[in-house]
Amino acid sequence: MTSMTPEVNASAPSQTLKFPDREIRVGISQCLLGEKVRFDGGHKHAHYCTDVLGKYFTFVPTCPEVGAGMGTPREPIRLVNMNDEVRVRGTKSDDDYTEALTHFSEQAVKRLTGLSGYILLGKSPSCGMERVKVYRENGYRSDITQGGVFAETLMRTYPELPVEESGRLNDPQLRESFLTRVYAYHTWQAMIEEGITPKALLDFHTQYKPLLMAHNQQAYRDLGKWLAGVDKTSVVQKAKEYLPKFMAILKQPATRQNHTNTLMHLQGYLKNNLSSAERQHLRQTIDNYRTGMIPLIAPLVLMRHLFEVHGCEYAGNYRYLFPYPESLAIDGV
Ligand code: SF4
Repeated sequence: MTSMTPEVNASAPSQTLKFPDREIRVGISQCLLGEKVRFDGGHKHAHYCTDVLGKYFTFVPTCPEVGAGMGTPREPIRLVNMNDEVRVRGTKSDDDYTEALTHFSEQAVKRLTGLSGYILLGKSPSCGMERVKVYRENGYRSDITQGGVFAETLMRTYPELPVEESGRLNDPQLRESFLTRVYAYHTWQAMIEEGITPKALLDFHTQYKPLLMAHNQQAYRDLGKWLAGVDKTSVVQKAKEYLPKFMAILKQPATRQNHTNTLMHLQGYLKNNLSSAERQHLRQTIDNYRTGMIPLIAPLVLMRHLFEVHGCEYAGNYRYLFPYPESLAIDGV
């Protein structure tokens, strides 16, 4: 188990953590909302997005192909490698839509400020996050894949923005990762809006320590050392440099083993307070998570409950235990 001795002298916050009381705006491929904007006049309604996430997020929809003036219904398009340049071409007419789609994407993305996340439809030459097929001029598939035109523009413009494809949200670990990053980014945005101070930055880091540890133990230690010594003069620049480092760590998959280590570490805060039945229950729940029988939310919920019952202010204020609202986690199961 890794030591959690703080590298920075941030004081632990005194209240159980809450999320900022401000709207969470999340961009989304418009067809995922059930709107008939696809090339064939259909949609790709993602019920998890509208029925579950829609209760927590304010969606900001965009259909880049409609926005680029291509109309509905329209000729389907694909990415084609032409003389080492990837172009957007019609599958029937060979019309070239590259400039129209690129221009719209650049303009639209500039307007999408203040988002805390983005959900895209996969495989689309406009919206696919990655692994979109690129064809040769002769119509056969090439060996290359890449993101769609709009998606690449979005991710290049906002490299820290949490982005995920709707289909991948069916995977519990990818869903947990996306929701955690959306809420972390949203919390960061609220803090910056209020005005960054050394204390606010150190408190933020303290709250996220175990979460960072679960994603990458070495990077977590390095970030803590790098942040030590932040003061009024350096805080604005430090915050600017901190965010990409922080989001990059959260983007790395948190392994079950690292989560188990983190849970066992937090369990240590409770050990003197628990009855033997509670201790046994917690140990069993962590072990069930370790062996893949239950999702992460199960030990997290139990641990939150035990911290509430027995009280342990320091650990109870870690975002690791409250990465996103509990009701959202239960809705998503
Ligand atoms: S361009 Fe994007 S939003 Fe529009 S239909 Fe295609 S995948 Fe959906």
